[in-house]
Amino acid sequence: MAGSGASPNVAVIGAGIVGTCVAYTLARCGAQVTLIDRDEPGQGASFGNSGAISPGSVAPLAMPGVVKTVPGMLADAESPLFLPPGYLPRALPWLMAFVASSSPERVAQSGVKLADLHRGAIAAHEAMTREVGVPELFMRRGHLHLYPDAAALAKDAGGWRMRREHGYEFTELDRAGILDLEPGVGPRYTIGVYMADHATILHPFRYVQAIARAFAAQGGEVVRGEVRALAPQDNCWRLQLADGERSFDHAVVAGGAWSRALLDPLGIHLKLETQRGYHVQFSGGGQAVSRTVVLADRKVFVTPMEEGLRVGGTVEIAGLKRAPDMRRAALLERFARETFAGLGHLPARPWMGHRPCMPDSVPVVGPAPGMRGLWLAVGHGHLGLTDSINTGARIASQLLGAAV
Ligand SMILES: Cc1cc2nc3c(=O)[nH]c(=O)nc-3n(C[C@H](O)[C@H](O)[C@H](O)COP(=O)(O)OP(=O)(O)OC[C@H]3O[C@@H](n4cnc5c(N)ncnc54)[C@H](O)[C@@H]3O)c2cc1C
Repeated sequence: MAGSGASPNVAVIGAGIVGTCVAYTLARCGAQVTLIDRDEPGQGASFGNSGAISPGSVAPLAMPGVVKTVPGMLADAESPLFLPPGYLPRALPWLMAFVASSSPERVAQSGVKLADLHRGAIAAHEAMTREVGVPELFMRRGHLHLYPDAAALAKDAGGWRMRREHGYEFTELDRAGILDLEPGVGPRYTIGVYMADHATILHPFRYVQAIARAFAAQGGEVVRGEVRALAPQDNCWRLQLADGERSFDHAVVAGGAWSRALLDPLGIHLKLETQRGYHVQFSGGGQAVSRTVVLADRKVFVTPMEEGLRVGGTVEIAGLKRAPDMRRAALLERFARETFAGLGHLPARPWMGHRPCMPDSVPVVGPAPGMRGLWLAVGHGHLGLTDSINTGARIASQLLGAAV
């Protein structure tokens, strides 16, 4: 039965960082909320991200000129982009939309939308870590982006220009400046760009779990189960679960890269594709860096996590079903060992996760068009951790019609 009275009864489908933040914020604002996931909270893409809170990342992935660089990247086994030839026909419509969104006008529009969603993210995460009892997970020591030479930096010039246009400050460093901040960086890197105010979450999975616990402590219900389908019925949304059906006044789809399985049958065809990302988690080695360090030429994030050094990256467009290709993780491990001498023979555990990606890099957050009571919090791509709290606030203020 859907709820009655003033406080709406809301189902949030998907307990990644996005769904968990949506559920927590709705519950804090007085809604009766049920958070549903087939797994325990935080086991999707949100488990293994690099922990970077990066509001300065206002440039979408598809920048002008991308159509010229992609073929070369696909031909290079060591590039950050990988697409198994067998998956190309399935990926083609998404890739075409990706290229279409790389025109200068579309890029500028995406930048404005991303900047809007990112605004205040660092302060919001600092406050959230305190509020849910894990302040030790928040570190604000900036992000250091590294380049081998001026030619490599020039390739990212568009992204840095957009950061500046949106008010984000950064400082360019020479090799001595890099070593002042991070003495462990190997000789490959001679130019640094430092964003001093950016932040890092030191254990992304523990963070989701802490928010989920705080949600439950506020009276929120956490249900473990697969939502097989959802359908509108009598001003409610009926969810089909393995052990029966439940009805809610509102349903929020926050199923990450798997969201299309729920939305396609409703006639909502989002251009959502998984960009599979990998990490290697070293047991120890966290002292190799003291902040988020980005090997920008290789699009690799190096993070001193609570458990040890985490090295994340790679975009592999290969769908939801294929087994992970751990050669991608091995490459990340090699890059890390080449750059930081101190890693020695420390063991490293590989992981793969599904980033939920829109062609223009802009998440879909808000009411589903033409479907009363259905809400979308989908497609956060490379920045779902950064944008999770603001997504929760946006959904809650629109759904409840209140300032959050
Ligand atoms: C290697 C890597 C590094 C990254 N680094 C960063 C970073 O530094 N900073 C940053 O901001 N972002 C980063 N990201 C991106 C970020 O992790 C994602 O954008 C974010 O985790 C997406 O969150 P989500 O909640 O939408 O999806 P998920 O975390 O994938 O959660 C979706 C959940 O929905 C559940 N679900 C789906 N369908 C159903 C169903 N039908 N029934 C029940 N449950 C369902 C799934 O089980 C899953 O738990 C990175 C990602 C990767 C892979």
